[in-house]
Amino acid sequence: MTCPVCKKPTDPAYRPFCSRRCADVDLGRWLTGAYSVPGDATDPAEAEDDLPSSPPRRH
Ligand SMILES: [Zn+2]
Repeated sequence: MTCPVCKKPTDPAYRPFCSRRCADVDLGRWLTGAYSVPGDATDPAEAEDDLPSSPPRRH
């Protein structure tokens, strides 16, 4: 088995990676992707209600 980050032989201590560094790299990629996952789009919807450029609502 090889490290998915740099393709070096895997170190059993850091499986499936070859080193702590590569494990961190992969984790960083995963977190970055997780933050951009669609579905957490509640912010734009809420912001749409508070747009300063939107006309004032008449009650
Ligand atoms: Zn590696």
